[in-house]
Amino acid sequence: MSVRSGLGAVRRRVLGSLYRRTAPLGDRGPIVSFSFDDFPRTAYSAGGAILEKFGVRGTYYAAWGLRNTSNELGDQFRSEDIESLLEKGHELASHTFSHISCRSVSGAAFRGDVEKGRQAIAEAAGADSANFAYPFGDVTLQAKRTLRRGLTSARSIFPGFNGPEIDLNLLRAINLYGGLDGLKRTGELIRENFEQKSWLIFYTHDVRENPSPYGCTPALFEGAVSCAVGSGCRILTVREVLTEIGVGREGQTIKMGAY
Ligand SMILES: [Zn+2]
Repeated sequence: MSVRSGLGAVRRRVLGSLYRRTAPLGDRGPIVSFSFDDFPRTAYSAGGAILEKFGVRGTYYAAWGLRNTSNELGDQFRSEDIESLLEKGHELASHTFSHISCRSVSGAAFRGDVEKGRQAIAEAAGADSANFAYPFGDVTLQAKRTLRRGLTSARSIFPGFNGPEIDLNLLRAINLYGGLDGLKRTGELIRENFEQKSWLIFYTHDVRENPSPYGCTPALFEGAVSCAVGSGCRILTVREVLTEIGVGREGQTIKMGAY
């Protein structure tokens, strides 16, 4: 282990152990959730279509300021994608407005951008996006401490399964990146989660042939969803899990045609 990754592990341990806001998963597992960050259009056009084919839904962590833009992940979401995904019962969650790291701005500026992102989603889509994901997966103690107010949950990219006790301020998640050669590892994670009766949250970005380093191919995504469905796990959105536990808010109010 390099010094750098050793320090990373220490840092993750400290961040994982402080300012926790816990809730019991109880006997609700095993559960798998599929989530997308930012989010590129292909997360919905390709990823969403795959989920729907299996009769399940995903969680989309949208940074509203990225709407109608393009970057290395491809075209980012547009208003019509939001309208469509809410209609189909996917979850719209938040991811700051400007897609900023809590390590690069003051605590007050970060909190302000988190709130601005939620506000923008509420105003444009009428959706309460109380579940949040930290941009770049960056977490600080200050962000973790202050975000416990107002948000139902904050998802990290700290790897691991959630449960038997989950930290609402730091949900753990595992990436789904690359092509079909990653399916074996994905299947092992799903099986391990099944045996532990815990909650596994996957996250990715673009879903397309030749994905960015932060995305996956449709084949890997479909393989992962198929494996999760076949394993006997329940496939739920983050909001559905937290509503069952009694900490989330039921449903998302949808105000169509408000763009
Ligand atoms: Zn992001």
